[in-house]
Amino acid sequence: MSLTIYNSLSRKKEAFKPITEGEVKMYVCGPTVYDHAHVGHAKLYTSMDVIVRYLRHKGYRVTYVQNITDVGHILDTGEDRILKGARRDRIEPMQVVETYMRSYLDDMDALKNVRPDIMPRAAAHVPEQIEATQKLIELGHAYEANGSVYFDVKSWENYGRLSGRKIEDQESGGRIETRTEKRNPEDFALWKAAPPEHILQWGSPWGRGYPGWHIECTAMATKYLGETFDIHGGGLENMFPHNECEMAQSEAMTGKNYSNYWVLAGSLTIDGVKMSKSLGNSLRIADALKKYPAEVIRLFILSAHYRGPIDISDDAIAAAQKGWERLLGPYNQAQQMRSAGAAESDDSNIDAIIAETTANFTKEMDDDFNAPKAIAHLFDFVHKVNTILNGDAPVAASTLEKIIALYDELVEGVLGLVPSAAGNADENAADRQDGLIKLLIELRAAARINKDYATSDKIRDQLKELGVSLEDGKGDTKYRIAS
Ligand SMILES: [Zn+2]
Repeated sequence: MSLTIYNSLSRKKEAFKPITEGEVKMYVCGPTVYDHAHVGHAKLYTSMDVIVRYLRHKGYRVTYVQNITDVGHILDTGEDRILKGARRDRIEPMQVVETYMRSYLDDMDALKNVRPDIMPRAAAHVPEQIEATQKLIELGHAYEANGSVYFDVKSWENYGRLSGRKIEDQESGGRIETRTEKRNPEDFALWKAAPPEHILQWGSPWGRGYPGWHIECTAMATKYLGETFDIHGGGLENMFPHNECEMAQSEAMTGKNYSNYWVLAGSLTIDGVKMSKSLGNSLRIADALKKYPAEVIRLFILSAHYRGPIDISDDAIAAAQKGWERLLGPYNQAQQMRSAGAAESDDSNIDAIIAETTANFTKEMDDDFNAPKAIAHLFDFVHKVNTILNGDAPVAASTLEKIIALYDELVEGVLGLVPSAAGNADENAADRQDGLIKLLIELRAAARINKDYATSDKIRDQLKELGVSLEDGKGDTKYRIAS
């Protein structure tokens, strides 16, 4: 089965063909680290995480690069976000960067998003950005004005190809005060001249200054993945101007395709409203994680297709929590039954069920990473496996192993929905339960040797009431837990 991906550049689903067979080079625009990450970041980066996990599950060797923006991301007011954070928190700009980058990594780890292979920081790649800017000037796609350098959008006819629009508003242009130095209002800054009091500044061929936002992604993506790479991921809300400008300057610089596939994720709203600081409805990832396990948040996010928007509300999360408990039911039960000792013979049709589930899961994930549909097949699996685990026939150890293996491979491996800590806790609890039942079996055997049948019967009957039935065999007693 082959993978198809919706390419935001062509606006259609395309068969996925990596540049090098068996390898995927993927770049995802990372966060601007000037504040704590919110659940909108959870939506974007968990969506990207599942894509990376699935590509690896399919056997691709994935190089996953995600940058950290620690300079150059300018607000509409013309203010650098990092400097804004520094003023707000009354700390050094690089302290802002360290504080919120660590906070972001903590959040991503807690959400079980696998760390990217390379996380380059913009401030550590200023020479590369200067070099890219110089090259664009040499090629006639950029020009210097008063110590700043702008990309000349009129020099590049493909400008607007990704987003399909050309809007005069440019976030990184500092347009209010610099409009007059630009040739066209749409031109965007590759390099900004810095006044002496500006804290973040570097020397350049055009004087002291700092890089624009878009050029960092061009410089770092091409440095680590090559001039053309396979997949560029990110959020739909950054398609314009950020990704559009990034693509224009990259392709103008190299004369080659920048990314073959653009995989952009939809955004997240809270109770139907876009999250924003001014509305006071921004929900930090760390706060959400205090209320819900990471896996519940992941299942909630994956309940909608990654390209679509999703609305977070208490009801939606409560539904995800219920679904998650149901999804994990057979996994926990199989773990318990495994430690309780299982029957030898395997007469269930587990192989067919697992083959069917895996095929359906793969078919849906191959169709532009359709996690919600893939998860629906997992719920069918849960239904079928519950029938086996709770039926009258003894369940073989091999059946339990196969069920657990499917969870390990797909539910956890691809989707990250099996809690490792809780899994261990369950295992410890199951071990303890096993030990206690065996102790009672020994006490019962001792009572029978002493002809104390009142005690031995009491143990057997009360265990039965607790759902543990004893089966006396030749020389030993086995037990079985009904569910
Ligand atoms: Zn970017």
